[in-house]
Formats: sequence, structure tokens, C-alpha cells
Amino acid sequence: MKMTTKTHTLHTARIKNNCPTCFGSDGLEFTFSQEEKETIFQKKTAKQIDEKLYCHTCKNPIYPVNWTEDIERVYRYNKKIAETNRIGLKIKPLLYIVILLAIIVVATGVYFLFRH
Ligand SMILES: [Zn+2]
Repeated sequence: MKMTTKTHTLHTARIKNNCPTCFGSDGLEFTFSQEEKETIFQKKTAKQIDEKLYCHTCKNPIYPVNWTEDIERVYRYNKKIAETNRIGLKIKPLLYIVILLAIIVVATGVYFLFRH
């Protein structure tokens, strides 16, 4: 079955904390995202939320080992927002149609079986 993978951005936040690398205070940005695998029947999203902290001033990703306590605090706050935007399992209408057809086929079969 054909499967495509997409990345959904759940939440981004520019934060005012100082960058641990360049000490700039207006370049840090959190990005929370979730991966989604899509087939013709359903969209399945990864349970895990990917999180990135990137500094637009020095163009560096900031890894959690370098986060300060203040950044951690802002991170926890934004992670909660990201989690409320989390995407669950989505079933596409095509699956309902297939289920409906299956029910009709079974019901018709049962009808003819007990007709005589
Ligand atoms: Zn920086």
C-alpha cells in the first residue's frame, strides 16, 4: 500500500530568552512537530512530538544539553500548548464506505440464506 509521510507543525514560539551560543535575545524559536503517515484508508500520526530549538541569530540548533533553566521553563509551557494541538488517528471516509459495503454484502447474504 502506498504510504506518504508528512510533518505537521503543531506549534512554534519565538522566545525572548538569551541564546546559549550567541547570547542574542531575539533569535530563539521553538518548533513542535508531529509526523504523519498516510495511506488510502487512514492517517496515522506518530505519538511522539518532535521538538526543536533554533536560533535565527546565529543559525544554530540549540540542543537540550545547552538549555538554561529559563529555556526549560519556557519549553515546558510551550510543550503543553503543542500537546493540545496534537493530532490523533484520522480515519478517512473511504474506510467507512468499505465497512458499509461489507455490512451490505453480509446483510444481503444473510437475507438470501434465510429466505427459504
Ligand atoms: Zn544564537
